[in-house]
Formats: sequence, C-alpha cells, structure tokens
Amino acid sequence: MIISAKYLMTGDGKTVLEDKAVVTGSDGKIRKIGSKEELIKEYPEEEVKEYGDATILPGLCDMHAHLGYWYSQPDSFNYGPQLIMLYALQHAQAAFERGITSVRDMSSAHGVCKNLKLAAEKGFITIPKITHTDTGICMTGGHAWEEVEQVDGPWEVRKEIRKQVRDGAEWVKVLTTHRSHIPELTQEELDAAVDECHRRGIKCGVHAGTNPGIQMCIDAGFDTIEHATFMTLDHAKQMAEKGIAWTPTIMAYTLLYDICKEKMENHAGAPVNDPVMQKEIKDYQYFEPAYKAYRDNFKAFYDTGVTVIAGTDMVMYQSPLLPLPRELQYMVEYGITPVQAIQTATSNPAKVLGVEDQRGLIKEGLDADILVVGGNLSEDITRLNDVKLVTMDGKRVFEDGIRYVGTSNMFM
Ligand SMILES: [Zn+2]
Repeated sequence: MIISAKYLMTGDGKTVLEDKAVVTGSDGKIRKIGSKEELIKEYPEEEVKEYGDATILPGLCDMHAHLGYWYSQPDSFNYGPQLIMLYALQHAQAAFERGITSVRDMSSAHGVCKNLKLAAEKGFITIPKITHTDTGICMTGGHAWEEVEQVDGPWEVRKEIRKQVRDGAEWVKVLTTHRSHIPELTQEELDAAVDECHRRGIKCGVHAGTNPGIQMCIDAGFDTIEHATFMTLDHAKQMAEKGIAWTPTIMAYTLLYDICKEKMENHAGAPVNDPVMQKEIKDYQYFEPAYKAYRDNFKAFYDTGVTVIAGTDMVMYQSPLLPLPRELQYMVEYGITPVQAIQTATSNPAKVLGVEDQRGLIKEGLDADILVVGGNLSEDITRLNDVKLVTMDGKRVFEDGIRYVGTSNMFM
C-alpha cells in the first residue's frame, strides 16, 4: 500500500515533511518513504491511497489505559469474568477510531490484558498492541484498595510483584497517594518495589499526586510517575535528570473537575451536612486545584525536558473511551505545539516502553502503524478528530468510520 498526503509528521517532535508518501511491505513494516511518483515507479503493484490535504503520522499510543476497568459500572454485580473480557475487548477496539494502535494498560482486573493478548496472538480478535501491568498494588486500605492488591512491608511488595511477573505482567503499577498529603507506602516499600521490578528486568509506574509522595517516588526511581498532579518545578527537573517519565493525564482530572463542578451547581442550596453534598464538596476541593495545576504549570514542566507521555486514564461510568486526541489538545492549549504534543503519544511512549526499534516513528523498517488525519495537523491539533485511515502492521484496522477487526486465519 502506498499512502500519500501533503504532510508527514514523523513523530520525533520536530519533523514535518511535505508531499511525501509511505509504502508498506508485506512484512508489516514501513518499506520506504519518498515522493509518490518515485514510489509508484518502484512499486507499481501497490495500491495507492492519495489523501491530498491530510497528515500522515505514526499510530498513537495511550500510555495510561484501563481496558478492563469495570468497577464503576452501575450494574457491577453483572460483571463476571466473561462480561469483563467483552467489555475490555470493545474498549480496546475503540482505540482504532482514535488513531491509537498501542496502549499501556495500567491496572485492569487480573488476567484480562494477558488473555486479550493471547486471543489476538491466536487470531481470534484484532486489538491494538498492549503492554500491561497486572492489577495495581497499594498498601492495606490505600488508594483504590477495593480494586487492586493490598500489600504491607517490603517482602509483601516483592512477593506480589513476583506473583504478577509469574502471571505475565509486563510492567508493575503501584499506587501510593490519595488526595491528601499523607503518603501511603513507606520509602522502604517503594524502594523494594522498584528494586524488585528492575531486578526482574521490568519497568514500573506509580500513581502519585501529592507531596511528599511524589518526591518519595522520584527517590525510589520509578520509570514513570502517573499524574504527579501537584508536583513542583523542582520535581520536574529531578525527573528530567533521572530519566523518569511523566504521564500527566490532564483530561482525566479536567473531566472530574467538570463533573463535580456541575454536581455542585445542581445541588446549590443543599445543606452542607448532607452526605452527598459533603462528598461533592470534597471532590471539588481536590479537582479544582488539580485542574488548575495542570493548566498553569504544564508548559513550565514540559520545558524542563522531562519526558512527557500521553495517557487518558478513563475510569468513570460513561466517560469517553481512550480520548487521547483531547489529552493532546489540552497540552496544546496549555502551551506546546501540535508537533510536540504528537511526540508524547508516539516516539516518547515507544522509548519508555523500550520498543523504539519497532515503532513510534514514521521511519523505514519500523512497524507500519500509520494514522492519516484530514488537514494540516502541525497547525491544528483538533485535526486528530478527523481520522481517515489507521493501519497496524500494514493492515487496515479503521477507515472512513468503519473498524476492520474481523478475523480470517483462526483455523488455518
Ligand atoms: Zn489510572
């Protein structure tokens, strides 16, 4: 297939080429980048897709997904293992409509992502490329304890990580703060988590939103810090220096702010000792400064050189599935360029996942995970909402509003 468009954004955070085309090979790799005429001459047998005023870029990567997060469904009592798998499957396939061809899942119900990947390997289903943790790890009664594994003490931390690695986890997710300035896991426990992961050759991300929890996670040396909502400029500088990547998840906190603001307005005049009202006040007191922290500090933190990776973290009932284009739009609204924003969802994730020799750029020899959107994306990030074509390993998975996720080789 020869894909041609006026603009080509390589994903490196700076390069936009004009009037280029990409030819994909039968091995699922990008075979060559060149002018359309040159490629047609060299590969006359290939189908040509000419998109005109459009942008070619690498398929996007959502670095903070929860494909199997069913806990917030109002009829959660219906969610047994079978329904959870189907829920996770439709969540995963929604990715293609957003131009997403890979995700890092940061805690789903035990075994969900492993089984999705197995089903894809067997040819039962077509889903994005998944890198996944198992279920998250927190202290007893810590953040999200109802949904994750609770551990206390460095040896329980190590044992849980060993179990998860045994069961197929490719990353580990730790959670250590929850809307207060009291850190949850101790420094000793955090250090043990990082040491055990790195000793086993896997990476670990940590949910930390407040201080001193964020500093403790920097000191422990996690590979990525999720949210880091109330971090300081000094934290960002330290992370840049130590090579710790930052997944801000701006969209998640902004959505939660919008929801609780609306609820507060709807209940204006209710007595403040009403328990529902009290919860709303508490939510508002956290999410309003959280939203403002991202809005006011994102650009300064980005400018420290910390590696920013885009993630959506959608867990609320009826929240949009993997709204990565909106996350990138916030980044642009808060001061970086569309070309820089795209890097946070393409080559930066590939580096953090250690797959930069396979994907993350439009580059000869890398996987043909290609997205085409209408218009000039380098001037208007909202062009991401106009997805024309998505290929994964050179195969079309989404085009003109239709998903191509059927199977053909199941019994071959
Ligand atoms: Zn999350």
